[in-house]
Amino acid sequence: MRKHIVAGNWKMNTTVPEGIELAKAVAAKSVETPESVGLIVAPPFTHLASVAEALKGSKVALSAQNCADHTKGAYTGEVAVDMLASAGCTYTILGHSERRQYYGETDQTLVEKVKLALAANLGVIFCVGENLEQREAGKHFEVVTDQIKNVLFQFSAEDMKNVVIAYEPVWAIGTGKTASAEQAQEIHACIRKVVADQFGAQVAEDMTILYGGSCKPSNAKELFACPDIDGGLIGGAALKADDFIAIAMSF
Ligand code: PEP
Repeated sequence: MRKHIVAGNWKMNTTVPEGIELAKAVAAKSVETPESVGLIVAPPFTHLASVAEALKGSKVALSAQNCADHTKGAYTGEVAVDMLASAGCTYTILGHSERRQYYGETDQTLVEKVKLALAANLGVIFCVGENLEQREAGKHFEVVTDQIKNVLFQFSAEDMKNVVIAYEPVWAIGTGKTASAEQAQEIHACIRKVVADQFGAQVAEDMTILYGGSCKPSNAKELFACPDIDGGLIGGAALKADDFIAIAMSF
């Protein structure tokens, strides 16, 4: 059975006390959300252990926003998968467009990161999406297909049970421009087909595919009504507990 998920990517926002307050508010309001909808929050690294504490006893799972491509050692400034798991994470986001764009994250690095995350029993929220130039050139299907092929095709069908794909058109992230439900649905259907061709129909049927990019309470219902959109990866609107929960109530 395909899981519905609403995940909040807090990016580089909130101090630790602000993050704890936000997590507590999300945890408290999560009781209002349908049982079938999984909730995840991804605060900055510095907040993870305290946010884990704040979420205890609630249905809200904890995710990191990234992980190191090595297990331990002399990699100043990096955070390894075992550290994330021991801080209470059960997921990590990988391949977010901001990491690809600003920190030079490549497909090769992502293969390593996905490998390590899965080995540490972390679920992976793997982000794909085209930029505006690629969309305008009509290359969005090709770009997204390649991003999936170049990384996820290195893994097995069994591994895919712990992978969620997030389609996030770069032109819609933080811009207030959302992909229309039709635009999002057609690329989600393409992603599911790519997954089916490589890993089989059942894996594709069970795969949770999230939409991300200026998703908010006012547009979530229309997006989530599409047959291949199984939830959202939420940036800006995840910083307000009421908005985040309203999005989760949009199924
Ligand atoms: C994101 O970057 O994951 C995202 C979806 O951001 P926003 O919702 O702010 O567009």
